[in-house]
Amino acid sequence: MSATIIDGRAVAQEVRAQVARDVVAFVEETGLTPGLATVLVGDDPASAIYVASKRKACEEVGIADHHRHLPADVSQDEVVALLQELNVDPTVSGILLQLPVPAQLDGAALTGMIAPDKDVDGLTPISVGRLVRGTPGLRPCTPSGVMELLRRYEVALEGAEAVIVGRSDLVGKPLVHLLLAANATVTICHSRTRDLPAVCARADVLVAAVGVPRLLGADAVKPGATVIDVGVNRTDDGLVGDVDFEAVREIAGLITPVPGGVGPMTIAMLLRNTVSAAKLQLPV
Ligand code: NAP
Repeated sequence: MSATIIDGRAVAQEVRAQVARDVVAFVEETGLTPGLATVLVGDDPASAIYVASKRKACEEVGIADHHRHLPADVSQDEVVALLQELNVDPTVSGILLQLPVPAQLDGAALTGMIAPDKDVDGLTPISVGRLVRGTPGLRPCTPSGVMELLRRYEVALEGAEAVIVGRSDLVGKPLVHLLLAANATVTICHSRTRDLPAVCARADVLVAAVGVPRLLGADAVKPGATVIDVGVNRTDDGLVGDVDFEAVREIAGLITPVPGGVGPMTIAMLLRNTVSAAKLQLPV
């Protein structure tokens, strides 16, 4: 039997609609408007497109846009000064430094400067520490989007075997902790994993975050498993994931398509994080 297709666009739309309602409630209760400062350095076309779509999404749900655009030849000190200004600006709830930054800048050091309660990407060392410890904080958007899809489709995680392929700081590593917090038994694979299909075939929940088109085929999937494909790869056949969708949909129980699966969730979770950040900054 063919797998049920997880509709990431529909779930993302529901999350956005809820965020819009949460913004209205927040404004009514506090008289304040949540605001996001996207910081774009230089003119990389892909980064400009990502930032533009984040700003548009904010506008649609009533989050104020505090975008800043710096020239490509800006110095580290100038970006530091801007981040320090945004960190203390009470109208700015969340700060997102679009990566990658130009080569003369240290992107990791700059990201680390963002105030943890405004860190809507969840990538600062303090946010990572909060995630690992399981204490409240802002979680990275794409892994949170994966968890939201699993929640909406009522995928049982307690005691389940979860296998993640990919150990990036952005996706694979944070997802380990989110799945552990949901009481899954988690295995993480990477480029040195021996017999990758055999490890993946143990999974009740298989997440691919690799960046290799159709790396995981039918031999890597247990019948009935939930398969979440984070990968986005441009090929001659258009956008494809890290999973061989056509082969795997015949075996899996649930599967995300690419596009239209995890992709739309990332911005939805960014919007949710921005409202969470606004709440974190309310005086106690
Ligand atoms: P990344 O930083 O490049 O990490 C890739 C990971 O995959 C690494 O851990 C690498 O292992 C592992 N890997 C590479 N080749 C492998 C192989 N043949 N077998 C097993 N593991 C292998 O990637 P990322 O930033 O996490 O992104 C992964 C994919 O997700 C990309 O396609 C990206 O475009 C996509 N993505 C999508 C969204 C979204 O919103 N939908 C967001 C973020 C990323 P090593 O550590 O050993 O090198």
